[in-house]
Amino acid sequence: CTILAIESSCDETSAAVISDGKILNNIVATQSVHEKYGGVVPELASRAHQQHLIPVVTEALSSAGRSKKDLNAVAFTRGPGLMGALLVGGSFAKAFAYALNVPLIDVNHMEAHVLAHFIESPSPVFPFLCLTVSGGHTQLVLVKSHLNMEILGETLDDAVGEAFDKIAKILGLPYPGGPQLDRLAEKGDPGAFTFPLSDMKGLAFSFSGIKTAVLYFLKENLRKEPDFIRNHLEDLCASVQHTLIKMLMQKLVKASQELGIREVAIAGGVSANSGLRRALKEAALENNWQVYLPKLEYCTDNAAMVAMAAHYKYLEGRFCALDISPLAKMKIGYHG
Ligand code: ATP
Ligand code: MG
Ligand code: FE
Repeated sequence: CTILAIESSCDETSAAVISDGKILNNIVATQSVHEKYGGVVPELASRAHQQHLIPVVTEALSSAGRSKKDLNAVAFTRGPGLMGALLVGGSFAKAFAYALNVPLIDVNHMEAHVLAHFIESPSPVFPFLCLTVSGGHTQLVLVKSHLNMEILGETLDDAVGEAFDKIAKILGLPYPGGPQLDRLAEKGDPGAFTFPLSDMKGLAFSFSGIKTAVLYFLKENLRKEPDFIRNHLEDLCASVQHTLIKMLMQKLVKASQELGIREVAIAGGVSANSGLRRALKEAALENNWQVYLPKLEYCTDNAAMVAMAAHYKYLEGRFCALDISPLAKMKIGYHG
């Protein structure tokens, strides 16, 4: 079977084609319009999706060597994400499925991030743990099967990607700050400065405290040394990144010990972070884990992961009605 999948939850317009479980391509149009605002502007995101969607879908079909009549289903990201952005992709998918008279498949974006691990082998063995770290979420997920996942713990405030981006902004780095901070951190000393680790109960995370801690730390030092940020930028980035990764890894190790699971994966935009990827490989040696890191193109938002999720739903005949609505907030495992 051949499925066209569409992703439009935030600031990436993407389309991918999957045929018999094999991803044929993954076309992504990143929106640059948000750069000058230092963050995603929802209304501008919706408009950019409107502009990019048809060219991206056309490119996905043609580069896959498929035409509209080859499609057996159309899939789209139902949520979570920006409502206006989701509406653009969702309305297009509905119209397309209706016109072609094929089933429509709704996909949860956070489940799709996890299922990016099944695009290429080797894939994790069930049950496995997945730390999903992105711009809007930080979740420790117990993955029991392709379509059966449970959140063990998540952030009580900011997402870790949000912490990366906000601290990068404080340091004067251009948007999106996460990848920039990562690049500079590679050249700095992670032990140069220390920031407090948050200590949440159980498997919960918190990332709002470190942002404030960095802010006060800089204020204090800028008084004494006006060029403090410029003089220590690489060390600041390395130290912040080191702290964020430590908070993530502590909970991942705890979850693995509590559940006795040693199949461990990371997913989402922040799983592209070089420090986190290194930390996971180190933890693998220390804890005898089998670890899984998505290819960089499948870490940040993309339609290939949505197509993968759609493939498993198609196999189980889990289609949705044409009057389904997008959801800005949508829990993993929600099927209403
Ligand atoms: P969500 O998936 O929660 O709805 P989103 O779709 O906006 O949010 P993704 O595209 O999965 O998020 O990830 C984007 C986030 O990943 C941004 O916060 C970005 O800064 C961060 N990110 C991307 N690359 C890196 C990197 N190398 N180091 C740190 N953060 C990174
Ligand atoms: Mg993005
Ligand atoms: Fe995402």
